Amino acid sequence: MADDIKAVSTEVVPVDARQPEAAVIERAAALLRAGELVVFPTETVYGLGGDALREEAARRIFAAKGRPLTDPLIVHIAQVEELERVAAAVPERAWRLAEAFWPGPLTLILPRSEHVPRLVTAGLETVAVRMPSHPVAQALIRAAATPIAAPSANRFKHVSPTTAQHALADLNGRVPLILDGGPTPVGVESTVIDLCAAVPRILRPGGTSLEALREVLPEIEPPLPPRATASGQPESEEGQAQRAPGQLLVHYSPTVPLCLFEGEDQAQRTAIVAEALRHLKRGERVGILAASEDVEALRPCEERGALVRAPASLEEPEKVAAALFATLRELEAAAVDVILCRSFRPVGLGLAVQDRLRRAAGGRVIRVDPSAAAAEGVR
Ligand code: AMP
Ligand code: MG
Repeated sequence: MADDIKAVSTEVVPVDARQPEAAVIERAAALLRAGELVVFPTETVYGLGGDALREEAARRIFAAKGRPLTDPLIVHIAQVEELERVAAAVPERAWRLAEAFWPGPLTLILPRSEHVPRLVTAGLETVAVRMPSHPVAQALIRAAATPIAAPSANRFKHVSPTTAQHALADLNGRVPLILDGGPTPVGVESTVIDLCAAVPRILRPGGTSLEALREVLPEIEPPLPPRATASGQPESEEGQAQRAPGQLLVHYSPTVPLCLFEGEDQAQRTAIVAEALRHLKRGERVGILAASEDVEALRPCEERGALVRAPASLEEPEKVAAALFATLRELEAAAVDVILCRSFRPVGLGLAVQDRLRRAAGGRVIRVDPSAAAAEGVR
């Protein structure tokens, strides 16, 4: 292996997602207690877990992922009482959010307690905490009897894993054990909220919607748009002090270039068809990520060999979120030269979908305008 980690053989062990077998959980928990790593399913994506209170375990997580030490880890707990073990102070609004949304896909940024090594928080005096709802995650954290630091179980910058096979593809030889509990139901990472700022703000949209959060805390601010450099190009990953860790513009990238179309629906379809045909004429392989409403319009591309994937309707952001990362990985595995992608409305989980697609596009966003589509129609 090119980097500093010792190769291990990786075992994938099936686990019942609803009623995890005690023996499987105990085996995984014993590894965690020994400071080793375990990949396990959560309701969002698969996590790469290690003991959050042991620096050596955190070091292993960063090494296995190839993640820079400047990108902090989320600490997972199984009981709300554990919050006070990892956070130095818990404001009233944190308790309210926890009561409403835990266990579930919501991460709270709070002051770090001294029990959490600085390596876990990337040197920050704040800590990210979440209580996952997935029965396997719950059982594992309880059995390990320690909070578990767990970023997504992918190599740094790659698409997050929503199946054990995705995690294996990225981490084979780098972790001893992967628990396979089937596909993760939410499919995008947790929503991260900063509760250390004067006004609570979403740092990363995710599996808990802004609309639902505002029913409990109406003052929550939406995420700020990702920064671009003065040249208009996406910020590079290296050497940048991040405003909010994980807010790198190119973060969730498939290995294939992805081009995102935004604008009125019909205009997007027209532009995607034109762009697909242009690539196909050059003999390139094209993948298209669309909505079921687009399938008819994309028929001519499909007939010429484009791979069209339409996991759900525009009205079903939760289904789009659940299928998003698996679809990107599928198109990537099919060795397409380019992925053309429609955009989805930023409503409900659609906000997280939009965020991940913009990051995957890394600046290749094409704004189409309806008059262009109308002109195409006349021709
Ligand atoms: P991942 O676990 O890879 O899905 O991503 C973890 C993300 O949680 C980071 O990239 C940040 O966006 C966020 N995060 C974790 N700790 C902090 C923190 N102390 N302050 C702000 N954001 C954090
Ligand atoms: Mg990640």
